[in-house]
Amino acid sequence: MEHIIYEVDGPVGIITLDRAEKANAVDQQSLDEMDEAWSMAAADRDVRVIVLKANGKHFSSGHDISVTDQAVGDDGKATGDNPGTQVDWKERGLQAIYEWETIHYLGYSRKWRDVPKPSIAAVQGACIAGGLMLCWPCDLIIAADNARFSDPVVRMGIGGVEYHGHTWEVGPRKAKEMLFTARNFSATEAEQLGMVNRVVPLDDLVDETLKLAHQIAEMHPFALAQAKRAVNQTMDVQGFYTALQSVFDIHQTGHGNAMTVGGYPVMINLEQMKKTN
Ligand code: ZN
Repeated sequence: MEHIIYEVDGPVGIITLDRAEKANAVDQQSLDEMDEAWSMAAADRDVRVIVLKANGKHFSSGHDISVTDQAVGDDGKATGDNPGTQVDWKERGLQAIYEWETIHYLGYSRKWRDVPKPSIAAVQGACIAGGLMLCWPCDLIIAADNARFSDPVVRMGIGGVEYHGHTWEVGPRKAKEMLFTARNFSATEAEQLGMVNRVVPLDDLVDETLKLAHQIAEMHPFALAQAKRAVNQTMDVQGFYTALQSVFDIHQTGHGNAMTVGGYPVMINLEQMKKTN
């Protein structure tokens, strides 16, 4: 694996994002590798707790959409160059995006959420948009005091990232504020809202997370799986599972609209957005 490090520390499986030079932006390769690491941790009976962490200053700057200057032509419209993804949307349209994101975005996040072992995310620095889709599926989140969380994709003409945890994580009003304003939520605010379990000094983040992981790993694995399922199942009967799918479909209408208006799956040109409002 190139962008992910997977290691086992006694009963704890540790998945580390290792793409600090790109602020841990996730492209298809990172996602596939991360899924491979989650699958190994899930399959290994000796692993009782999974930790997800990231090397570098930032947890994750989100999906690697690699929108560069080349992506916008002289006419202000997209050229279609998008090296961050292997989606052949120019040939197959929205169907290609829908299928690809079903597997790599919604599918992976949902699968990791359902792994029947406790998981803990350790978050420092920026955790933006697609970054939320990495830590939200974890059962617990430990945040460094410099962590900040945001989903600014409304700025790109889309109503939120593919995995709609927002309403469940922070409640409907704060979820709307998060989406409408695109602002950062601090670690402290995230903790007050119940999105984060605890905030620790940056220097202690990994140690505190591993300490908690090892403490939880002393519990009986089946009891842990039952406890996890009890909470997740309670959310699911309240509609979490079906809401995720239906909001994913709403998300796709954002890509469809952006493609129709600007010829690109997200609105990458603010002037273009103003014109179409
Ligand atoms: Zn999308």
